[in-house]
Amino acid sequence: MTNIDHYAVFGDPINHSKSPFIHHHFAEQTSQKLHYSAQQVSAQQFNTQLTDFFARGGKGINCTVPLKEIAYKAVSQLTDRAEYAKAVNTIIQQPDGSLLGDNTDGVGLIQDITINHHVSLKMSNILILGAGGATRGILAPLLAQAPKQIIIANRTPSKAQQLALEFTRKIPITGCGFSDLPTQQFDLILNATSASLSNQVPPLPNDLLNKHSTCYDLAYSNKPTPFVRWGQQFTDKSLDGLGMLVEQAAEAFYLWRGIRPVTQTVIQDLINARL
Ligand code: NDP
Repeated sequence: MTNIDHYAVFGDPINHSKSPFIHHHFAEQTSQKLHYSAQQVSAQQFNTQLTDFFARGGKGINCTVPLKEIAYKAVSQLTDRAEYAKAVNTIIQQPDGSLLGDNTDGVGLIQDITINHHVSLKMSNILILGAGGATRGILAPLLAQAPKQIIIANRTPSKAQQLALEFTRKIPITGCGFSDLPTQQFDLILNATSASLSNQVPPLPNDLLNKHSTCYDLAYSNKPTPFVRWGQQFTDKSLDGLGMLVEQAAEAFYLWRGIRPVTQTVIQDLINARL
């Protein structure tokens, strides 16, 4: 490895990752000298590649699908938010050489919704679709916004019920299947299923949103995702997860470099690149 600080995102597949573009943009903006690469790493290769990367002087790693849960088990220390999420998307090398695992997905989502899109979640009714790793990662940061209630609906209802049990404290959380949703409208619906990746939308009734609601797909694509298009029928605020991607990266950059980059320009560049 060269004497420039080296970072990487590990994932499988990784070809289309926007993370190198985002981090190089942050580095230029903040006058930091670093190199950030995307590395194809399978679940089987993860532990060896992780050891090798840091042995060669690497400074930090991001992990994406399907490695976040494996990374959670591989590091020696965890932040509270990674512990809640049971998943790690950012690894930081500590001064003594040990590896600290963090999860910046939740804070990225909250930053995008509340700051970039000016949506307050206080006393809101929130519906989360999906009960996988992303939902686990966003639940604690969402609860910290003091919503009125959260309902989690999932294709496999038992997983949603299990998450609800695990995270319920003062704020009520209910888990159910898509067909058991109560008849009510939501201030925010988050799609944390991977249905968009197979061009599908979870089966939902048409009366869950009104024109003041926000609809948010954690997935993103060069074209509006099927879920974003579904939400556009009901509200002008039907968003995808591009902003979340940039915000979780900004938080990782801050953890590694101690400088918080401005996110708006890179979000705008990525939006322009879609056109
Ligand atoms: P997981 O594989 O852990 O969970 C997938 C979830 O989607 C499960 O609840 C699964 O239900 C559900 N699901 C899968 N296919 C369908 C379908 N066709 N219809 C309905 N439900 C379905 O994935 P993650 O939680 O890690 O990721 C979820 C999404 O969030 C992905 O699209 C990912 O790209 C996105 N994401 C975006 C980020 C960003 O920065 N913008 C960061 C993290 C994630 P079941 O339990 O029944 O299998």
